[in-house]
Amino acid sequence: MYIKAIVLDDFKSFGRKTKIPFYEDFTVVTGPNGSGKSNIIDAVLFALGLARTRGIRAEKLTDLIYNPGHEGEETASGPREATVEVILDNSEGTLDRSQVVNAAGSDDVGDVDEIRIRRRVKETEDNYYSYYYLNDRSVNLSDIQDLLAQAGITPEGYNVVMQGDVTEIINMTPHARREIIDEIAGVAEFDAKKEDAFGE
Ligand code: ATP
Ligand code: MG
Repeated sequence: MYIKAIVLDDFKSFGRKTKIPFYEDFTVVTGPNGSGKSNIIDAVLFALGLARTRGIRAEKLTDLIYNPGHEGEETASGPREATVEVILDNSEGTLDRSQVVNAAGSDDVGDVDEIRIRRRVKETEDNYYSYYYLNDRSVNLSDIQDLLAQAGITPEGYNVVMQGDVTEIINMTPHARREIIDEIAGVAEFDAKKEDAFGE
């Protein structure tokens, strides 16, 4: 499973609907400073609900909504909203239909060769609202997280490696570094279960 494309609409610097395609094995995004490269990663973290643990660069959710006056001058008026959709290629069947139907709470999920996870944040006069969708069905964050976990994508995992993470790993004690390797290799889970068993 891999990210096939992401669609941003009024998310951070993407003031109009933009679809960015990704290749299966390797995609590099280049551009001048401040052109929005890191905003693309923020969009993925936002849409997949990984933001809190992986350190998205925004103080509050509504800062993620495109603001034409970001550089100074005018600010947009009226309700504002941002949407990001992450389109995952599931043509190899990493997730089967029943898993998707379960998470969506509906049979009406279309073709599951494509898993589309969409998040929308909407700002009103005195509040803001956040919505998640799975193949156009309205769901909760936990539904998305449970589904992604079945494909090995978790908030604590290393599917996303942020700037500074590598340096942090290099500077760790050998023991702490070993814990990360155990985590990635899937050994940590068994260690935790073993601990639990000894405790009982
Ligand atoms: P660098 O090469 O320096 O890492 P980058 O390509 O990663 O740059 P980003 O950090 O993705 O750049 O983008 C920063 C730009 O996004 C800034 O110009 C900032 O003004 C703009 N930006 C951030 N939030 C918003 C927003 N809510 N509305 C409009 N523009 C925004
Ligand atoms: Mg950057």
